[in-house]
Amino acid sequence: MPTEFHIGIDDTDSESGGCTTYTGAVLYQELYDIGIRPSDYPWLVRLNPNIPWKTRGNGAISIHLIIDEDQIETVQHLAVRITKETAHLSDKRADPAVVFLRGPVPMILQEYSLSALHNVLSIDQARSVARKASVETHLLKGSRGLIGSLASIGAGLDSVAHTFEIIAYRTRENLGTSRRVNSESIKVMDSKQGSGTFHNLDPESGRILVCPHGPDPVLLGIRGLTPQGVQDAFNRVQINETVERIMIFKTNQGTDAHLTQHRKVIELARYQSAVVTGRVDTVPKIVRGGHVIFQLSDETGSLSCAAYAPTRSLKAAARDLLPGDRARVYGGIRRYRNGKPTLNLEKIDLLSLVENVNKENPICNLCGSRCESMGRGQGLRCKKCGLHNETGTTIRIVTPRSLQLATYTAVVSARRHLSRPGNTVR
Ligand code: ATP
Repeated sequence: MPTEFHIGIDDTDSESGGCTTYTGAVLYQELYDIGIRPSDYPWLVRLNPNIPWKTRGNGAISIHLIIDEDQIETVQHLAVRITKETAHLSDKRADPAVVFLRGPVPMILQEYSLSALHNVLSIDQARSVARKASVETHLLKGSRGLIGSLASIGAGLDSVAHTFEIIAYRTRENLGTSRRVNSESIKVMDSKQGSGTFHNLDPESGRILVCPHGPDPVLLGIRGLTPQGVQDAFNRVQINETVERIMIFKTNQGTDAHLTQHRKVIELARYQSAVVTGRVDTVPKIVRGGHVIFQLSDETGSLSCAAYAPTRSLKAAARDLLPGDRARVYGGIRRYRNGKPTLNLEKIDLLSLVENVNKENPICNLCGSRCESMGRGQGLRCKKCGLHNETGTTIRIVTPRSLQLATYTAVVSARRHLSRPGNTVR
């Protein structure tokens, strides 16, 4: 009798090399080689991007099967062996974990996965969820990888919003060398594929974003809306080195899945992903490095919001806010200063804008010079000719706002894997 069987893997890599997607790709293809067909593409699940101990994009992998009971042992052996072979076990920052679940994914695991997108979870919590959900765990070193491997199984990408990424991997002898991918062919691919693929390059600077730069085995990754779309895009790219293997992943990248938890200021905690609605309290300040900081408050407290210089369009929008504007801010809580949380901005929705009003003394009717106030209720007097206007008052100058009631996002090169594609306003 066939049964659902789910494999979750995380934390096989470190800054010195490796990539959990590579472990997933090897396992998926070796399952195929022994005649076992997973029931979906492998899932590349991005989790809370504000976790400080991530290597790069906080990604975990899961593979989903419907298999006969008597195949389970073979699959488990294969998964553990391949994780051991591809993991960077010698690196102290890698804590590889492989987990197995028989049967349908229980609600507790789905809820856990959602929480792992927004919060910082403990290893104890992970152990408790694994026990309650009857998940079998294989920890190859420390325990931290358990968190992501469990969360990847519960991500529900068969029903929630998802996209695809095609990843090409490098051969061992090329690791650490510069990637030989023709930049012009990526620009042509980007222009031909339209919005079917996204975040291929930064439209303003032309910088190529599909190739990483580190020692990991990823040669390039193209993100898009359909498997066919990413495959077609890949076929257009001119690659001048040997490709070891290619894999298409189903993923929550490009969905803003981490920016859905609305919180009050009082509920915020370090390293969360958060959405807060409030009122701008201060004129934004430009600090060293060109970053923009402003204060926002709701009925429970106030927080600092930081738009960093590389986010360009987002920083420019933040700079033009005025006290009294209402905004919904999205991002990660990275630190506290004087007990106050700082949210690193990823996106701002402007909900209402105050008028930009300045008051000026009028021009003298006689000589055209600027008048000055003679004190409260005493009218105005011309500074130059002395003409006295007893009923004169200051005039209101309304300057049109440069901002609109719209969503402002960072430029493409400053976005996260999870950030939804789309044009920035400005
Ligand atoms: P790559 O993208 O190259 O695969 P990475 O950025 O995913 O690397 P990992 O090496 O997998 O980084 O490290 C992330 C670690 O954080 C993992 O051990 C994972 O279990 C853990 N983790 C993931 N989400 C959370 C969370 N919400 N709370 C606490 N720990 C988490």
